[in-house]
Amino acid sequence: VNYYDTIGERRVVSEVEPGYLRNLLPDGPPREGERWEDIQKDIEAKIMPGLTHWQHPNFMAWFPASSTYPGMLGELYSSAFTAAAFNWLCSPAVTELETIVLDWLAKLLNLPPSFLSSGEGGGVIQGSASEAIVTVMVAARDKYLRESTAHLEGAERDTAIAETRGRLVALGSEMAHSSTQKAALIAGTRFRAVPAELGDDLGLTGENFRKAVDQCKLEGLEPFYLTASLGTTATCAVDKFGEIAEVLKENPAIWVHVDAAYAGAALVCEEYQHLTHHMDAFDSFDMNMHKWLLTNFDASCLFVKRRRHLFDALSVTPSYLRNEFSDSGLVTDYRDWQIPLGRRFRALKIWFVMRTYGTEGLKNHIRSTVKLGELFYSMVQSRPDLFEVLTPPAFALTVLSVVPHPRSPALASGPQPSTARGAYSNSFTPDATSQALIDSNLLTKQVYEAVNSRAEIFITSVVVKGIYVIRVVSANPKAEEKYIRRAFEILVETTEEVRNRFRGDGRKVP
Ligand code: PLP
Repeated sequence: VNYYDTIGERRVVSEVEPGYLRNLLPDGPPREGERWEDIQKDIEAKIMPGLTHWQHPNFMAWFPASSTYPGMLGELYSSAFTAAAFNWLCSPAVTELETIVLDWLAKLLNLPPSFLSSGEGGGVIQGSASEAIVTVMVAARDKYLRESTAHLEGAERDTAIAETRGRLVALGSEMAHSSTQKAALIAGTRFRAVPAELGDDLGLTGENFRKAVDQCKLEGLEPFYLTASLGTTATCAVDKFGEIAEVLKENPAIWVHVDAAYAGAALVCEEYQHLTHHMDAFDSFDMNMHKWLLTNFDASCLFVKRRRHLFDALSVTPSYLRNEFSDSGLVTDYRDWQIPLGRRFRALKIWFVMRTYGTEGLKNHIRSTVKLGELFYSMVQSRPDLFEVLTPPAFALTVLSVVPHPRSPALASGPQPSTARGAYSNSFTPDATSQALIDSNLLTKQVYEAVNSRAEIFITSVVVKGIYVIRVVSANPKAEEKYIRRAFEILVETTEEVRNRFRGDGRKVP
């Protein structure tokens, strides 16, 4: 409680040098146990300096990692009850609460009934969105191999499976999170990135998906999986689900997983639920309650339309795991829905958070942080002389770049082009277009680095289609208007300082 009450007084981002802790700690553990008072003192003295405070109201980097008191209490109870909980018999409450709260969540997110445990689907809590992607990719791979060789038997089938495996391709848009590429590495398949265009707000279109599928087939490869994103990491882009669903009609063997790691939380609000209209055409969906939905890390909620595909790929039952309840088929054994065997009691914190906030409280949190994002966006829009936004504001994220000065005194005195990048570059030759981008990238990077080195706020940057941009996220549980306004002031002050150090052509004034 003390930490949270005073967190705003701390420096949001750690400034220690790599290896700082080795100099502060002894070479080995103490021979005799120490008193807790002495151990606890070292939290402030040795650990705090090396922490970046993700719960700080000025933490506006990456995506948030929510923390709340009900979430923490869930963690505390879970620690007290620690058990491996890999199957129902291990601790029936662990399994049953998970099934119930994930059904609550599926309904709250407006997922189709096919994703509920009462049908053929259901939800399971994973550690992270990346883990969810590996898990479903393995299920997708096995389903594809099983179904595409179903007409064969015995050794002939084994050979066909081995040969097909080498031709499998997992797809994801070039804006999809890198976890799809990593999952393909782990699953032992190829990966191919499908282009997404700025003109489509960086969402994957059906046309580009179809082209990628056709190209793979032309090369003798077999696309078996696609990650479709609801809120990409760089700009919170949403892929064109309706168009992707259309392409699937001609390619029903492709498993589509919807990665809604961060932005999926917004689906608790009715105004975002149109995004679920095509979910029934897809196979799995995952969102992290621990990013934007007030639940402590880790709580990645994975839903599948047919749970059978997970067991078919992941269930191995040696005799020591057999028991009458599992054999009866009347209980859920979540070990078959995930990669590890053991699992934590993570449903407790979701239950505590849902009950403490209620569905209205969860919606209010999303709406109030989206509103802060819109406020930040409107402030950025009010200074076209300094900033340009890359894509429309989305899910409490604003993505912006710094615009360079007009390029020369001649231009400055002639008809003035807007300094926004689009107009700026259209007013010049193609060479000037590239120069404008180089200037803008250089300036944006300098502003980003200067803001973070001042360390009053902490933000992140990313390069999208060759454009260097700054991301500002207002979805932190402690976000408030005064912090967002101050963040904008810092950005303006820093941009003006940095720009004054540069000539119009982006070179540093000596
Ligand atoms: N997908 C998206 C869209 C993300 O933004 C992220 C991380 O921010 C991930 C996946 C990976 O998340 P995790 O850390 O839960 O694996």
